[in-house]
Amino acid sequence: MKRHLLTVLLIVLSVFCCACNHPHTQLSFIAMDTYITLSADVNDGVLSSVRQKICSLSDALDFHNSGSALSILNQNAGGPVDGDLNTLLQLARQYANDTGGAFNPALGNIIRLWDIGGQNRLPAAAQINDALAHSQSGDWQIQDGQVSLQNGVQLDLGGIAKGYASDIALQMIEQAGGTSGLLSIGGNIAVLGSKNGDDWRIAIQHPETEQASIGTLSVCDCFVVTSGDYQRYFETNGKRYHHIFGQNGYPTDNSLRSVTVVTDSGAKADAYSTALFVMGLDQGLAFYNQKQDFEAIFITKDRSVTVTPGLRNRFTLQDGGYYYEN
Ligand code: ADP
Ligand code: MG
Repeated sequence: MKRHLLTVLLIVLSVFCCACNHPHTQLSFIAMDTYITLSADVNDGVLSSVRQKICSLSDALDFHNSGSALSILNQNAGGPVDGDLNTLLQLARQYANDTGGAFNPALGNIIRLWDIGGQNRLPAAAQINDALAHSQSGDWQIQDGQVSLQNGVQLDLGGIAKGYASDIALQMIEQAGGTSGLLSIGGNIAVLGSKNGDDWRIAIQHPETEQASIGTLSVCDCFVVTSGDYQRYFETNGKRYHHIFGQNGYPTDNSLRSVTVVTDSGAKADAYSTALFVMGLDQGLAFYNQKQDFEAIFITKDRSVTVTPGLRNRFTLQDGGYYYEN
């Protein structure tokens, strides 16, 4: 939460610093278990409607609330879905397939077992293996508005929900005539248009220092999402256990500290940033070469920064202790 607050503050600062042609309306609130700031050249009423929409998505997708639409699916091993839940689950299925299960919304049993940020349990290997047997990416389907969960799979959409919400928020603002805006849903950034004809400058959270950014990205009309091992974690015996799980049911343990994805969809940026973090640097770069539908910044524990070609003249590294790998 604190990290998200920093991102929010940096963004709010950058919005206030711009002498906009059309004044931006601002709205900040908490939903989806995080801080949200909306800023766009639309009136208060539009941003209030966006807030209502995000809050209703937050309620529907809450994995931890037994009354949410998602939990009801989990309790009933599936069922009918429509509207946003239908769209979001179709996207989740597609990104799970595209990433070979690195993005795996079927990890609910693993997520509940570890409960990172809640009970912070370090489960026994047997418990992890048992939960993993009921968390397989291939054990759920969605077709014609019908979800089916096999083998005790529990869906958790924490790796994509905020990005999807940013897509919906941006669409609502555009439909209301907005042409310029900056939205942050817990650090999932959506950028609409430009800032007086210039790129927006987005601060990328420093993975080691709480009150700092590691660099800035100059972008317009895109979504920017970062996944990292510093967002939610606990440490015991000198080891960090964070909230992004690999296919072995343990928090991923590769060379990466964070991955930022820039692309044309919030849901995709969110799902891919989680997936690339799971894949690790080499596999992540292979995925980049294969897909060619996003750009990324990979930051490793040994302080290397790998920037994909499309972002090389858009990213400015600010910490001299880090070095470019390419
Ligand atoms: P954040 O939500 O902190 O912005 P992410 O988008 O990377 O970060 O999502 C992490 C969340 O996604 C976890 O809290 C959990 O709910 C869920 N999750 C964890 N591991 C995976 C995974 N391999 N695939 C899909 N979702 C995951
Ligand atoms: Mg994600």
